[in-house]
Amino acid sequence: MKILSIFPETEYLQSPHTACTGCGLSVAIRYFLKAIGEKIVFVMPPGCASVIVNIPKRAISYKGQPIGLLACPFGAAATFAAGFKTGLTMVGDLETVVVPWAGDGATFDIGFGAVSAAAERNEDFIYVCYDNEAYMNTGNQRSSATPKGATTYTNPFPVPKNEHKKDIMLILADHNIPYAATMTIAYPRDFMRKVQKAKGMKGFRFLHMFTPCPTGWRFPTEWTMKLSRLAVQTKVFPLFEVENGNRFILNKEPARIPLEEYLKVQGRFSHLNNQEIEEFKEKVEQRWEWLKWLGNYKNNRPEEHRGKYDGE
Ligand code: SF4
Repeated sequence: MKILSIFPETEYLQSPHTACTGCGLSVAIRYFLKAIGEKIVFVMPPGCASVIVNIPKRAISYKGQPIGLLACPFGAAATFAAGFKTGLTMVGDLETVVVPWAGDGATFDIGFGAVSAAAERNEDFIYVCYDNEAYMNTGNQRSSATPKGATTYTNPFPVPKNEHKKDIMLILADHNIPYAATMTIAYPRDFMRKVQKAKGMKGFRFLHMFTPCPTGWRFPTEWTMKLSRLAVQTKVFPLFEVENGNRFILNKEPARIPLEEYLKVQGRFSHLNNQEIEEFKEKVEQRWEWLKWLGNYKNNRPEEHRGKYDGE
């Protein structure tokens, strides 16, 4: 597989569009289209992305032609994508990449059943979840991707969200899908490589994109890239890949940067006291150690044992 070594110059996301200033998601759309090219049809439920690319006019295009986009109900991106992909195959179009592109609310919560069912059937598309850790398009309500301790407008101060973030990557990886990967905009080469890798594969591929949201997380817009990088460096959002539910690849060894560096710039965490920060740290460390342990265990199992435990 040929991985792009440089960013293609073609711009598919046109200005003006309606993203808030400093929106991490708009950067993710830009990178993604550069990596995947114009032979694509997005399947989008309501969310920030569908607004950015579609209102007041289609803001994603190639040589003046709009990029394909199918709007669907909130919980149905995976179902619509499966049907659309089948239709394309029936008319002989094996080239167009079908990409359900949904936020954390539409993926972790409302569309989760459809996502899991499509993963179990190994439907042939690239499912992208852009994760801004709440329902941002409707004004910042908690989702199951919201981290414990964050304030949202359904957990108003002084009662922040009290449940941990759902581990969507490990849940999806446990469906034994061909490919699952985390990515974020501060690591563009890693981002491009994973999109290209997913494009070169068949079956259900899941890309979990971390997209900082200055509006909902309440941080200065110039911090978007820094926060994206700090999330990886502090282990809040590790970069890793899972192939066939079996092979784990941890892409970056985190720097020894205190978690406080990540938390302190975000208004949604400004109320946390020392004990709550320590609890946050413990959770982050635990997950990192769990990922490493799981990776060692899965990667080192003898080949003959894998089928037995993986339902192959
Ligand atoms: S609310 Fe957040 S994710 Fe949505 S467009 Fe604004 S900055 Fe981007």
